[in-house]
Amino acid sequence: MLKTSKKVIGIALAASLLSTGISVFPNNAQAKSTVEITWLGSGQPQEKQAYEQVIKRFEKSHPNVKIKYVVMAAGEQYNIKIKAAMASGNMPDIFYINPENVKSWVGSGKVLNLSKYVKKSDINNIWKPAISKYRFDGKNVGKGDIYALPKDVGPFAFAYNKTMFKKAGIPLPDKDKPYTWKQWIAISKKLTKDTNKDGKLDQWATGLNINWSLAPFVWSNGADWLNAAKNKVTITDPNFEEALQFFVDQTNKYKITPDSKTAATMDTYQRWLKGQEAFFACGPWDVPVFNKLPFDYDLMPWPAGKTGKTATWLGSLGFAVSKTTKHAKEAVEFAMYLSTEKTGQKLVSDLNIQIPNIVDMATSDYLKRKDKPDNKKEFIQIAQDYGRSWPYEYTYTREWYDEFYVGIQAVLDGKVSVKQY
Ligand code: CA
Repeated sequence: MLKTSKKVIGIALAASLLSTGISVFPNNAQAKSTVEITWLGSGQPQEKQAYEQVIKRFEKSHPNVKIKYVVMAAGEQYNIKIKAAMASGNMPDIFYINPENVKSWVGSGKVLNLSKYVKKSDINNIWKPAISKYRFDGKNVGKGDIYALPKDVGPFAFAYNKTMFKKAGIPLPDKDKPYTWKQWIAISKKLTKDTNKDGKLDQWATGLNINWSLAPFVWSNGADWLNAAKNKVTITDPNFEEALQFFVDQTNKYKITPDSKTAATMDTYQRWLKGQEAFFACGPWDVPVFNKLPFDYDLMPWPAGKTGKTATWLGSLGFAVSKTTKHAKEAVEFAMYLSTEKTGQKLVSDLNIQIPNIVDMATSDYLKRKDKPDNKKEFIQIAQDYGRSWPYEYTYTREWYDEFYVGIQAVLDGKVSVKQY
């Protein structure tokens, strides 16, 4: 017991001497000049290995910087850990920030303003909509100074089962001209059938999850959850109601999805994987799994409502630097390296974890690749042109948005009307 506490005191003393710059080790040149940057990340082992290579190269070109990379599983555990770190004031130098937290985390003074360190030329070739997610002027997200750099962008595309189309003799969807809802329903009806003639449907057009896939219908119909000033909920807009009705009708009126009883025996994602559905959502994170499916698939624009323009969500995760970091310059330099350095970006995009953050690389090397999906350009177009942020990224919390979905199952089941809801 006594021994242990002595040791602790010893370390604490050494640490305090070090931080005052007093020499405690005979050969301390290294200790004095080396800066340690802690990065708390999350992700799959594959991703971790890729980033370890990136770290090695960074350390080689920055001999005075040592990166301490700590990786956790992605998800709720990570958020809990970061929130605890924020509360204790003991923050890692670099951590992930979800765009939905920009307003609250910047507002509470946890995140370093990067604008002073980031030159325009540093980010010229990075997806602008992704950078925008991390801009905040103290009032609105989307403009002002930069508080994080994108780790990735997640264009939420629409996929179709090419093999099923060919088998049915239906012309493949146009790469750039979205189906109108009417056209999409007509084709969907053709693709919903009882293929083995046993009297039961075994192939459907789709089976979309409303939490992820309602937005493309709402947005392309000229509606949104919030007004342009982002201070008023607008879900009673007739265009919004129409889009929600159309979503519900996919199951209850047009019957182009498995009904809830059928979906309960196997979920609609599994059915897509088994080749039982013609259309499904697809982000870059799905590609490693989809590329191993026994059928061919490709990307297309989401069907468009009355605006005639396709719309979808563009996700992202960002690298933030702690406002309390002792090594702001080095931490920002490393965050920039992670976000924009070419060899590292090639590494993570070749792993099919994400598309490159660098526009030039995405529109050249990545597009030229021969692996599936053929229409990789759809991902690019979403990242470059028409991908949108979730409505709650503009607000302090997402509670109001989650509230919208609380009773939605009754609407999907046809027990509560859209109007009532
Ligand atoms: Ca059947």
